[in-house]
Amino acid sequence: MEHNTAAARDESRQPTAHDLEVLSRQLGRPVRDVVEIPARCVCGNPLVAATAPRLSNGTPFPTTFYLTHPVITSAVSRLEAAGVMNDMNLQAGRRFQPRRCLPFRA
Ligand SMILES: [Zn+2]
Repeated sequence: MEHNTAAARDESRQPTAHDLEVLSRQLGRPVRDVVEIPARCVCGNPLVAATAPRLSNGTPFPTTFYLTHPVITSAVSRLEAAGVMNDMNLQAGRRFQPRRCLPFRA
């Protein structure tokens, strides 16, 4: 049962020709070098596209994941406009501070 769930999940991540059409419509340009659909809407359309670190022509492509569905891109835009990114950058900076060493105890 668990195997079937994992297989279904892997299969749903494989971009189909229909996904690529939907992605191109969502982004308003032909998509290329999409390697995976990491997240989907409940209707099955892609929410997020994953791209290889280099495009097929060798051009570096630094954005691995990008939002594609208009509903999620506008929701994230509203969050960004409200300054959420500043808070998240602050939290990430705090989280990745090196921890102080604990006192040595023999
Ligand atoms: Zn949908």
